[in-house]
Amino acid sequence: MKINAKKLIVPLCLAIVIAGCLVWIALQNSCGKDGNAAEVRVSDRVILRLPLDRDTKKEINGANGIRLTVVTHEGGVYVESSGCPDKICVNKGKITSVGDTIVCLPARTVIEVV
Ligand SMILES: [Zn+2]
Repeated sequence: MKINAKKLIVPLCLAIVIAGCLVWIALQNSCGKDGNAAEVRVSDRVILRLPLDRDTKKEINGANGIRLTVVTHEGGVYVESSGCPDKICVNKGKITSVGDTIVCLPARTVIEVV
């Protein structure tokens, strides 16, 4: 029994390593995936869709008369400046992965990588 157990350890370890790699690859593909566009929503309405493969700068009219400057740069998107009082959206910085969002509550604006 002892000899059999030792012989089993090597293939078992290999199987665990391979399974681990497969899980890691699957996770890399589903989460953390780089997006190809940024969707800008104001009050739950999509008002703009910016491709992330091009560098652009757009002025957005958010709710409550707040204006935001949204910039796409090197595959990511960020709020360069905003008229909101808290500046949480500006401080969030650049987002690049699918599902990442920048939220500006005062302007009721959501920017999501898709
Ligand atoms: Zn804001």
